[in-house]
Amino acid sequence: MTALDHAPPLTETAWPVVSLESVSKTYPGGVHALRDVTLSIEDGEMAAIVGPSGSGKSTMLNLIGTLDRPTTGTVRIDGFDVGRLRDGQVSALRATRIGFVFQSFHLAIGQPVLDNVADGLLYSGRPAPERRAQAAEALARVGLDHRMDHLPNQLSGGERQRVAIARAVVGNPALLLADEPTGNLDSVSGASVMALLHDLHAAGTTVVVITHDGEIADSLPRQVSMRDGRVV
Ligand code: ADP
Repeated sequence: MTALDHAPPLTETAWPVVSLESVSKTYPGGVHALRDVTLSIEDGEMAAIVGPSGSGKSTMLNLIGTLDRPTTGTVRIDGFDVGRLRDGQVSALRATRIGFVFQSFHLAIGQPVLDNVADGLLYSGRPAPERRAQAAEALARVGLDHRMDHLPNQLSGGERQRVAIARAVVGNPALLLADEPTGNLDSVSGASVMALLHDLHAAGTTVVVITHDGEIADSLPRQVSMRDGRVV
């Protein structure tokens, strides 16, 4: 049982995985980072959120990732209205429904790959042997089961990002949210990471990639283009 079990019930309607309704974000000082954004991302979709620096992508990432709340409007993730949840419930939603992938991998450098991936299940309440078994399966999905006992710094950048992706998907989240996932990689490793994201999408995972790179965005089935805080 997690904090989410006490969250306001979902309605009968099947909500998209991501639903933003008339969402605006104004930072202290008056910067309008998002202006009246309405957006749905359905179960099984793969979409890029693309735009130049300053267009509002990070703000969007923080709202979709439930790391921040909008100034006005409604954010629903996997059907849960984030604005109606208490902080503990939002943490539970984030930990169990969203898998994050970052440009800089964010792996724990002192622990083996298997433990890094098993950390993706810390919130699940499952016993450690089960977490490790699932982590091994996730590593097999990303083609790195032969690297389980290595430390992250014994891997290439592309391999590290695949480990981070295994950690993000090990708990079967409703959404895989990747922030500039190839930003620290050479073009060959970057292509292999994008191919992995496409494979996960083909297997049914909902994937959102935040990128400033038009070429990467064009390679995805859907592009959500941002300019000056609006979807254009
Ligand atoms: P992007 O990720 O596309 O570069 P951001 O969402 O970071 O865009 O920024 C959108 C706008 O909001 C920019 O004008 C930026 O300067 C401003 N902004 C972002 N974060 C903050 C903040 N914490 N406080 C004030 N202004 C911010």
